[in-house]
Order: sequence, then structure tokens, then C-alpha cells
Amino acid sequence: MPIPKAFVVGHPIKHSRSPLIHGHWLREHGLEGSYEPVDVAPEDFASFFRSFAERGFRGGNVTIPHKEAAFRLADATTERARRLEAANTLWLEDGRIHADNTDVIGFVANLDQELGAWSARTALVLGAGGAARGVVAALLDRVERIVVANRTDGKARELAGFAPGRIDPIAWGEIPARLAEADLLVNTTALGMSGQPPLELELSPLPSHAVVTDIVYVPLETPLLAHAKARALRAVDGLGMLLHQAVPGFGRWFGVTPKVTPALRALIEADIVSGR
Ligand code: NAP
Repeated sequence: MPIPKAFVVGHPIKHSRSPLIHGHWLREHGLEGSYEPVDVAPEDFASFFRSFAERGFRGGNVTIPHKEAAFRLADATTERARRLEAANTLWLEDGRIHADNTDVIGFVANLDQELGAWSARTALVLGAGGAARGVVAALLDRVERIVVANRTDGKARELAGFAPGRIDPIAWGEIPARLAEADLLVNTTALGMSGQPPLELELSPLPSHAVVTDIVYVPLETPLLAHAKARALRAVDGLGMLLHQAVPGFGRWFGVTPKVTPALRALIEADIVSGR
């Protein structure tokens, strides 16, 4: 039997932390296998997609800018991937290429692991970019109402089309007035990421039971999370989302469902702190 091989494909790819995550799990489970970063330019993606099986890969992860193309090219897709029209996990099954979007699972699995049993009636989601689509798709299964604010008009309204009546699109300037009704506040914008301006938001109107989470994980403690902690609110960082979205793919390619452990977290935290 050939050694099982998986990839992460993107452009650029050298900053991806996925090889560290999957390499850790391969070692932890004593498995023979490889997980390789592959840099493929957009114009070459379709040919990479059609030839990866012949090159010995069982599948892999797909990252920016190929997630939409991977969805379009796949032979079979999950309901989650269809909702987002984007895929981040590919595998071979019955001679066909299957595609899923596990960012959706990763976001909620992180909250479940960090908070234990949690419930929220209303979530306020900041941002309506690619990641926000996964977050909103995940939250639709867990909260009653989602309020979405985005800097550029129109994108929040577009996102509201996912579930008309349950998603309330608002203007960016309306955020402060809507904090009081939020049980969960989620930042999905790039604000707060190293090299970007912080998200300037006065959190005092949030209810005292509110949870604040940021999907930005570089730095691990964004100014938003620091502010939430200073107000004694529960705060959940975005690293767990990255770790949890990796679980289903590893299971498909290497036959073992891995766990997100403190040792894995420590490994990736050290890599983030090293500023690679
Ligand atoms: P994206 O599609 O480019 O969307 C970026 C979002 O940020 C848009 O809503 C954009 O608003 C908003 N934004 C950017 N600059 C802003 C500013 N100055 N003021 C207000 N809003 C601003 O990017 P993405 O893929 O959604 O990623 C967003 C962030 O999530 C990144 O930091 C990424 O690293 C992180 N992320 C984390 C995970 C994880 O596993 N934890 C997964 C995916 C992404 P406009 O529409 O107005 O431009």
C-alpha cells in the first residue's frame, strides 16, 4: 500500500499552518503519511484538481484563492459547501472527488470546546466577507437571530439572503445601538489582525452574560478580546476554529479522527508567537 498523502493547496501557501497541524496528528497517532503544501496559481488550479489523484493524493485542504473553484469543480458536494458555494476539504470516494466546507464546523466546535454548553438567542456578526459566510451558516443552526453589520453597504444584505427573516442586515454605524441585544458578538472582519487597525468598539452596552469571539487569531488576543476580558465578559479566540476545521479532513485521508488538544494548541501558539 502506498503511503497516504494529502495536500493543502493555495496561492501563496508558505504561511499556512495546516502542515504543522496535520504533521502533529500524524506523529501523535504514529501514522505513516504526508501532508504537503502545494502552491498553485489560479490559472493552473483546474489541472491540479483533475490530476491530484494520479499524483497519489487522497485529497487535501483548499485555501485562498481556490475555495470557490474547488466547489465548482467537485463531483459531489455537501449541503454545507453548497450553502457557501465554496469548499476547503476534498477527498476521493467511489472514484469521485467530494468537497465539504469545514470552516462551518470549526467555528462552532471551537465555541463548544471553550464554553461547554452555551446558548444564545441573538448573535451580532461584524463583517460579511468569505469567513463571515461560514460563521453565519454555522450560527443558523445554533441561534434564533443573526444581526450582520458590514462596512460596505450591500454585502450584509446579500448575506441575509441565506435565511430571509432570520438575518437582519444593518449599517456599520448602527453597531453600537445593537450591542445591547447581542448574546454573542463575533468579529469576522480583518480588523485587529496584526498589520491592520484595531476594531474600535465600546463594549459597555453588551449584556453581562454576552460572549465575545474573534476569528482573527494573529495576535491570539486581539484588542477586541482584551477589551471584553477587561469587562469580565467571556472571550474566545479564533485559533480553535482553525484547529477544529482541520479534523474532518484528517479523518478522511488518514482514517483516524484526531482531537484538538492543549499540546496541538501550544504548538500552533508557539508558531504564531515566533512571528513566522
Ligand atoms: P475577506 O473575505 O477579505 O473579508 C474581510 C472582511 O473584513 C469584510 O467584511 C471587510 O469589509 C472587513 N474589513 C476589512 N477591513 C475593514 C475595515 N478597515 N473596517 C471595517 N471592515 C473591514 O476576508 P475573510 O476571508 O472573510 O477573513 C477575515 C478574517 O478572518 C481574516 O483576518 C482571516 O485571517 C480570519 N479568518 C480566520 C479563520 C479561522 O480559522 N480562525 C478562518 C478564516 C478567516 P468590506 O466588505 O467592507 O471590505
